[in-house]
Amino acid sequence: MGGTPVRAAEAGGTAPPATAPATPPAAVTPTPPGDRAWPVRALIVRGWDPPATPYGPGHRGIDLAAPRGTDVRAAAPGRISYVGRIADRGVLTIDHTGTGDPPLRTTYEPVHALVDKGDEVAAGDVIGTVERPASAADAHCPRSCLHWGLRRGATYLDPLTLLPPQLLSRGPSRLLPVWGSGKGSESGTR
Ligand SMILES: [Zn+2]
Repeated sequence: MGGTPVRAAEAGGTAPPATAPATPPAAVTPTPPGDRAWPVRALIVRGWDPPATPYGPGHRGIDLAAPRGTDVRAAAPGRISYVGRIADRGVLTIDHTGTGDPPLRTTYEPVHALVDKGDEVAAGDVIGTVERPASAADAHCPRSCLHWGLRRGATYLDPLTLLPPQLLSRGPSRLLPVWGSGKGSESGTR
């Protein structure tokens, strides 16, 4: 633990900062920075790509590279609201109390849960471990990853907006476009 800040990109390299979050949506209630944690300390291998329509293509969360067995931690304090399997993947959700009505809810998958529904957790508490997909066809990422999502009611949000700038700049996580076809469209969606 106790990672050194990774600042290679700003220290004169050629790579531009990849994760420059634009203006965070006002939907997320600000809370003390100590109340937040990265679910896993790992590289972001696929970023937030909200679909233009409810059933359209896109990515309703971010993927963090993490081998099977990696500890998964609560991103913020709250109560475990779901532990179960969806499409043969272990899924865990936390309702974050005090974040409005309906409350913010984070989802983690595929996860082998180490907590039960109803448990109260603090930010940074280990809630499970990254699970191996049932089959290669079921894998969400080419290599093992944790999919982390954030929503309020039926609305999906960028999970990174949950983290304070201190965590975003200090963490080792940087968006690496190593997977996925890239080549974004002209941002012509509405
Ligand atoms: Zn994902």
